[in-house]
Amino acid sequence: MKSILTQLKPWIEAALGLFYPNACQMCREAFADRDGGYICEGCHVEGVRFIEPPFCSRCGLKFRGEVTESFTCSNCDEVELHFESARAAVGFTPLIQEVIHRYKYNRAVWFEPFLSRILNEAALKTVSSDTHDLIVPIPLHPLKLRQREFNQAARLARSLEVATGIPMREKLVSRMRDTRTQTTLSRKERAANMKNAFAWSARNPLKGERVVLVDDIMTTGATANSCAKILQQNGAGSVTVWTVARGGPK
Ligand SMILES: [Zn+2]
Ligand SMILES: [Zn+2]
Repeated sequence: MKSILTQLKPWIEAALGLFYPNACQMCREAFADRDGGYICEGCHVEGVRFIEPPFCSRCGLKFRGEVTESFTCSNCDEVELHFESARAAVGFTPLIQEVIHRYKYNRAVWFEPFLSRILNEAALKTVSSDTHDLIVPIPLHPLKLRQREFNQAARLARSLEVATGIPMREKLVSRMRDTRTQTTLSRKERAANMKNAFAWSARNPLKGERVVLVDDIMTTGATANSCAKILQQNGAGSVTVWTVARGGPK
């Protein structure tokens, strides 16, 4: 007699197939599998826009038009920045917006390989174990972490660690306040809202390590800047920010 498991196998596979069919989770039509992060080729071509120059040399804000020399945008001229530079892999297209939203808020974890591949593909052009010593994800507030059950920044940072061999450390900085209302705030309000949002939580300071700070989206850069400040104040040699997407600042 067949074992109960052998008998059940096709049923289990069928049941799993309902949750993970080899179909694109955006258009729900074309083929896409786990390795592709369940995004088909068509949707990929349509919705993935790698950020190419010209952009602000500090914050990476895309500049529309012809610029031949290196420049910084007016936002960066106004605020004190604690990171050397911030770069994002892709623009905040409707596809990226929806994928990140579903990944974070609906636990659509099958999108993770798609997001991490985009980030790694762009970041690996300038980030290596020769140029950087440490990868740090932007932490979530403990309450939010309990709600979401995972920190998307830490998951992306882990994948960048695997791709580059640069060690990732998660608990250097902690988030002191839950700054969930950020999206409705103006640039100025965001900066004020992020004040003292992070604190150093490791026993010892860093010793001049060149840090890659990772998050899923950067909008005005207030969050990244606030976190970079804590790293700088606690011994980081430099901070480079890398995010999957760059949203438009308010
Ligand atoms: Zn598709
Ligand atoms: Zn800028």
